[in-house]
Order: sequence, then C-alpha cells, then structure tokens
Amino acid sequence: MGGSPRLKIFLDIQLLPCYNTKIEKVIKMKNESTFAKNSGLKRFPIKYIRDKAKAAYKKDDKCYICGDTGQLDLHHFNSISQLFGNWSKAKNITINSVDDILGCREEFIADHTSELYDEVRTLCKKHHKQLHSIYGQHPKLTTVGKQSAWCDKLKIKNQGR
Ligand SMILES: [Zn+2]
Ligand SMILES: [Zn+2]
Repeated sequence: MGGSPRLKIFLDIQLLPCYNTKIEKVIKMKNESTFAKNSGLKRFPIKYIRDKAKAAYKKDDKCYICGDTGQLDLHHFNSISQLFGNWSKAKNITINSVDDILGCREEFIADHTSELYDEVRTLCKKHHKQLHSIYGQHPKLTTVGKQSAWCDKLKIKNQGR
C-alpha cells in the first residue's frame, strides 16, 4: 500500500458520491490499462454497469423530498458496488478486467431490476448530500429500508411547511 497514484485514484473514487460519472470518465481514460492488469473488484468498474443500465433510469423532474427542480441526482438505495460484489461472489465470477465486466453486466442488470430502477429516488443536491452524510458515501445494503423511510419522513415534514 502507500501513495501510488493508482491507489490514490481508487481511494478518491470510493469517496465520491454515487453519481459522479464525469469524473469517472476522466479516470477511466487515465487508468484503463493499469486497471486491466490489476486484479480484484474495485469500485471503478461499476461505471460499466451504470453506463449500460443508465438508459432505463427514470430520473424525476423534481426532488422527491422538497420538489426542487434545480440540479437533481438519482440516488440508489442499494449500492451498485456492493450488489455487484455480492452477486459476482455468489456466482463465482472473477472480475480481473473490463471485459469480465462487459461479459456479465447484462445478467447482473437483469437480476437486479428493482434495485436498479425502482429502489431509487431523485433528490436535489442538498437532500442527496444530507442522505449521504447520514448513511455514508456508500450506504450499507442493510440500510435500504432506513434510507427510504428517511426520504418519506422528510417529504412529509416538507409538505407540512
Ligand atoms: Zn430536495
Ligand atoms: Zn446517492
């Protein structure tokens, strides 16, 4: 371990909020070849799943909680990284390269349609940030129900104003 640039970039990625695809794209260009040589699942390859699934994402035109129509994010209650990690482990799929991901992502998406497309909320920047400050940058899968209840609670509170 230590301060290798590649490691640093992976660590940076882990600290990113869940939907920062622009930054991931830049990092992809820089690291495609080094990644392919690297073994094991890092967060970064999840981009390839998101790219594929994104076409069907149903982002709302307003924040679920406050109705703000400004800058909106789509928040997944289920961390795609964790879902993919569990799924590939259960299926005994080893991910060593981008091709490994491309080879199995459609199956993964088909197996997780509700997590990817239904268990999501469109949130404004403020509420998205707030949610992650409570449940962490990569919320544990065990907090899915809590995150959903938190959104509902704030929505009701907001309507009361
Ligand atoms: Zn909001
Ligand atoms: Zn999020």
